[in-house]
Amino acid sequence: LSEKLDKALHVLKGHGSISEVNVAETLKEVRRALLDADVNFKIAKEFTNTVKEKAMGQNVLTSLQPGQLMVKLVKDELTQLMGGDAEGINLSGDPTVILMSGLQGSGKTTFSGKLANYLKTKKTKRPLLVACDVYRPAAVDQLHVVGGQIGVEVYSDKGNTDPVAIAKAGIAHAKAKGLNVVIIDTAGRLAVDEAMMAEISNIHKAIQPQETLFVVDAMTGQDAVNTAKSFNDILNFDGVILTKLDGDTRGGAAISIKSVVNKPIKFIGTGEKMEAIDVFYPSRMADRILGMGDVVSLVERAQEQYDEVEARKIQKKIAKNQFGFDDFLKQIQQIKKMGNMKDLIGMIPGAGKMMKDVDIDDDAFMGIEAIIHSMTPEERSNPTVINASRKKRIGKGSGTSVQEVNQLLKQFNQMSKMMKMMQGGKGKAMMQAMKG
Ligand code: GDP
Ligand code: MG
Repeated sequence: LSEKLDKALHVLKGHGSISEVNVAETLKEVRRALLDADVNFKIAKEFTNTVKEKAMGQNVLTSLQPGQLMVKLVKDELTQLMGGDAEGINLSGDPTVILMSGLQGSGKTTFSGKLANYLKTKKTKRPLLVACDVYRPAAVDQLHVVGGQIGVEVYSDKGNTDPVAIAKAGIAHAKAKGLNVVIIDTAGRLAVDEAMMAEISNIHKAIQPQETLFVVDAMTGQDAVNTAKSFNDILNFDGVILTKLDGDTRGGAAISIKSVVNKPIKFIGTGEKMEAIDVFYPSRMADRILGMGDVVSLVERAQEQYDEVEARKIQKKIAKNQFGFDDFLKQIQQIKKMGNMKDLIGMIPGAGKMMKDVDIDDDAFMGIEAIIHSMTPEERSNPTVINASRKKRIGKGSGTSVQEVNQLLKQFNQMSKMMKMMQGGKGKAMMQAMKG
């Protein structure tokens, strides 16, 4: 998708003047790109028509930088289409009751955990997770695992086959224990069917949640739109959660869903880890759909996860030339906390395309970590003592080779030098470490 768009917009960006033909050509590419991203045909067509009208109205053709103006128009219009501003969730009520709905596999259970974790850390709430998927015992276990990971209590009642009763009991349990947010995870089917709709509708009526969220897999394209419509007809839900927006998924579904059900998209899921949740910002999504990379999100996430105190310590060490492998190891661990490498790299403009065929997984650092673990404290703080025999020992100890040890030492040297050169902000040091 974005390659074509890049090209189309690139043509315009460079030009001092453009013709009506150019605008039409560009919009054709934009439309094609939207279709590729699973945006509904009618919506894509309306979209390009609107942009064209605006372009003519604003005299794009005679402006000084027609390309820039055009990019801005396309972006603003996309942003508008997805809802304009970010919308939070309604946390009124004591407890606040949040109901999850959606098909099986859409990511309800995972997102329930992410949301609980988010509310706990960001909004200092005391959440409770309630397991209302009564059909698969494994589903209840899964929620318990999630709860364990984030330190949030899970209410379940195995053997009880009435989800309405469990939901009610869960809310009562929260009240009794002074927990102020109840997140109710429900069962889904593989496709919309009457039984599922009746069940979720019954739960909804019985508990009257403050927030009913519809969870949908962004990778399911047009189907996502139809499912959203079915659920909205029954539940009149408050917001949409778009999951699996990792790496290269462009998220055209966001546009279609918003225009069909006219409900805000509130959060996105960007990975399997509990931290892989982001508030949905329409303007960032527009950038992403246009292939500009979600830099703002990346920077924000880096800032959140990166320990300030640690960062300052490391900066001091760099300044004094004392940055060692122990510090390096800490940085790797910080980076790992931010989510998986592919997600992160996908957010860097241009890099998504470049790295598409490169296989980066969460184990990318494993060899490096093993090597560092095999070093003595002295070697870690003063790598210059690492001679040939030490390299052999480290290689053996870490299950790698002398070449790999050499390579890491070389990279580390280069990195230390670079870091010293650009002791700017912590962000810069981080980015450098990432390239390491
Ligand atoms: P549920 O059936 O709706 O409860 O869906 P689950 O929460 O069990 O998720 C189904 C699968 O999708 C699991 O393997 C999750 O790890 C995965 N998953 C959920 N959210 C995301 C996401 O944002 N990104 C990725 N890559 N995987 C996700
Ligand atoms: Mg589930």
